[in-house]
Amino acid sequence: MNRAIDCHIHLSRRPDDLLRRYAELNGLKYSLDELLGEMRESGVERGLLLSPPMESGGILPNEEVLALCRESRGILSPVITVEPTRREAKAALGLAEENRSEVKGFKVRLGYVDAAAESPVFEGIYDYAEAQGLPVMFHTGDTATSDGDLARSHPLTLDALANRREELKIVICHFGNPWMEDTAELIYKHPKVYADISGLTTGGGAYSGKLAALLARKLSEAVYFAGGGEKVLFGTDYPVTRHRHAFELVSLMDADESDKERILWRNSKEVFGL
Ligand SMILES: [Zn+2]
Repeated sequence: MNRAIDCHIHLSRRPDDLLRRYAELNGLKYSLDELLGEMRESGVERGLLLSPPMESGGILPNEEVLALCRESRGILSPVITVEPTRREAKAALGLAEENRSEVKGFKVRLGYVDAAAESPVFEGIYDYAEAQGLPVMFHTGDTATSDGDLARSHPLTLDALANRREELKIVICHFGNPWMEDTAELIYKHPKVYADISGLTTGGGAYSGKLAALLARKLSEAVYFAGGGEKVLFGTDYPVTRHRHAFELVSLMDADESDKERILWRNSKEVFGL
């Protein structure tokens, strides 16, 4: 049995949730009961819950993420998604302050929203996150929709931000996939930059076995390049990747057991203060 913390989970009860098609692809019901059951069965003791995207282009309101976390009775903790308008950034900050004991971080949806990581609209969030030691997670790499903006979701766009804000904890979601080598350099270069391995595989497909092996090799190489697994965080991006497939990816990695333990739970416990 594994012990793990899943730092990247989505959930809603909305029919227009864009991630429902991944749930269907993976044979998942996409409900709180199912999620908590899967976590329990696979040894995932805690998880971070993030707003899923809606078909309309927006996100599930953060208030609903907070409500779902409360229903989970301490298993799920909220991460507040920040959209790039002054009004929404202010609301996100207010919500984080009001729910200080529960909120474990912020998320910015690079590639989906009309803003780069360095946009001034996020400065207030970065100030607060830096002062409170709260990580900011960034969607990076491939986008789930074909109209995403890859120039803005490229992980290297975070280098300038990390240079300018050395104390800000940055989490590069999905390991910047497919720019995993660039992500390896970022986690090696910056003391407070981390990367999660969530949502890297989905469904089946003719080459799913070979793809999992390829991704595991790239992740292993990133660990060698960074000199250890201290900066790599386990996550599923549920319902995009099932828990068992996320664990398979880690088991395929050619790394020391102590590094795998760090990846599976130790790092997230420290970085998010869980
Ligand atoms: Zn996600």
